[in-house]
Amino acid sequence: MTGQPKRFYVETLGCPKNQVDSEKLIGTMLADGLTATDDASEADVVVVNTCAFIEDARRESIDTILALDEKRAESSRLVVTGCMAERYGDELASALPEVDLVAGFGVPVVPVGRTTIPVSSTPIPTFDLLNLPRPKSSVPWAYVKIAEGCDRSCGFCAIPSFRGPQRSRDVDAILAEVDQLQVTEIVLVAQDLASYGKDRPDELGAGSIVDLVSKVSARVPWTRLLYLYPSDLSDELIDAILATGVPYFDLSLQHVSKPLLRRMRRWGDGERFLQRIADIRRREPGATFRSNFIVGYPGETEADHDQLLDFVSEADLDWCGFFAYSPEEGTYAYDLDGAVAPELVRQRLAELTEMQDAITARRRDLLIGSTIEVLVDQPGVARSRREAPEIDGIVEVPSDLAVGEFHEVLVTSALGPDLMADHVGAGVD
Ligand code: SF4
Repeated sequence: MTGQPKRFYVETLGCPKNQVDSEKLIGTMLADGLTATDDASEADVVVVNTCAFIEDARRESIDTILALDEKRAESSRLVVTGCMAERYGDELASALPEVDLVAGFGVPVVPVGRTTIPVSSTPIPTFDLLNLPRPKSSVPWAYVKIAEGCDRSCGFCAIPSFRGPQRSRDVDAILAEVDQLQVTEIVLVAQDLASYGKDRPDELGAGSIVDLVSKVSARVPWTRLLYLYPSDLSDELIDAILATGVPYFDLSLQHVSKPLLRRMRRWGDGERFLQRIADIRRREPGATFRSNFIVGYPGETEADHDQLLDFVSEADLDWCGFFAYSPEEGTYAYDLDGAVAPELVRQRLAELTEMQDAITARRRDLLIGSTIEVLVDQPGVARSRREAPEIDGIVEVPSDLAVGEFHEVLVTSALGPDLMADHVGAGVD
């Protein structure tokens, strides 16, 4: 087929869920006979998988598109897909004439001829990338997306409006993908992981994440879960997570002030969250916790912020992300009054980050002198069960430790979020 592109280059922005989509695109293009290149200037098709989560992410997506347009060969095709293409297809297509194709989820990205397909008028994706093949992972871990979309309506979040309602995958399809990836660690992801199965009450049903976690963890040494909405963290799910041997809890809390959480149209409050964290620590004192919080949501008062500071101090979580609220068109919060001044948001973020950095560093220091089990991701770089790939810190290890295997190492020092470790038997600095 003369004239058909032969080599492709994919640039992925945004969250782990986007990375899974990219891998599936790559799998599909490989299956179509194309070959991958890591040099955009050599590619016949350059794909940018965009993120539209907040304004900074959109700016980064546009910058990346423009940078790759500069770099690519004149005869190549520039394709933009992902959340931004889904959400702002029309605007993107008219604002960026250098782009050859703006494609929503699941639209074949190899363009034939110079066409531009606006997609934002598509209300809800009817087909997505969930069940497409993906290539074998090049690292010892892989994300597996178990559902697409979300049935909640958090005030700040535009995801349900363009990713659509939740669609849970079949258990068999998930397990087949786990087997095919042949990795040592599986990281399960979804917009709202613990709600897996709720959208299919007859075949799966609420709580089916518990059974799924047990089945996945029977197939791989490590199974990790990301994005747990706190109200769905049942005792059964906690037990299932602890039984995987990776006692890692990524709780999507977003704030702790009850009135502010209700303004966010979310469940819970700081006291309940602390109780749940204490419950888990009672069962597994070595459990690791991560959470994310939004700072400067409309109406966030000084008292709300103080509550969050108190919570961060008391909860003593291992990892926390703090993000400035970003108004998203079409969301409930977009028209809410009580906007927080940007300078105040910056101050609040700095205060929270400084507090959490000290907590993280202290918790990491506590590990100095202990022997831990690590999985080596690449020469000299490993993780223990306390660190999610690409999100948390790392463990620096001797470069002679075999990649893709578990090793016992001695933690000799710590620097911020990262640990330095040596062969067991080596001295501690
Ligand atoms: S749970 Fe809330 S924040 Fe997460 S994707 Fe759904 S609506 Fe958005």
